[in-house]
Amino acid sequence: MPKSTSMTPPPRIQALAVTLSQPQPMRRGSVSQRWMKCGKAGCPCATDPEARHGPYFTVTRGVKGRTSSRYLSAEQVVITRRQVEAAHAFRKQIAAMWEACETWADEELQAASASHLEGGEKGGSRRRSPRRLRPRSHG
Ligand SMILES: [Zn+2]
Repeated sequence: MPKSTSMTPPPRIQALAVTLSQPQPMRRGSVSQRWMKCGKAGCPCATDPEARHGPYFTVTRGVKGRTSSRYLSAEQVVITRRQVEAAHAFRKQIAAMWEACETWADEELQAASASHLEGGEKGGSRRRSPRRLRPRSHG
């Protein structure tokens, strides 16, 4: 029985590993827009929803039941959207990696089972297990 086989990952897993080995800034959360009232006397935003100021962009993320949000400048919006998209892609790559590695794991198991069956047919002698003292039936 071979003790160690060279475990070369299938090409698909190697490709995923290369992708995953190139980290980039990313964040869990989402970018949203909001319109605000300014609170200045006489400004129509106080009464007219259409006259509210904005859009203001925030990035929000739920953390332990709380929503944390933070305002973004126009320049930050572009960057943050890219970071959020990177996170989505990363999640997909991780899922694909799990799937590919589990398929690979199944293949490894199947290979082991096949070689075991081959060996089992050849080897006839069974080792007698030492007798143990145990009660035959419960009293
Ligand atoms: Zn206003």
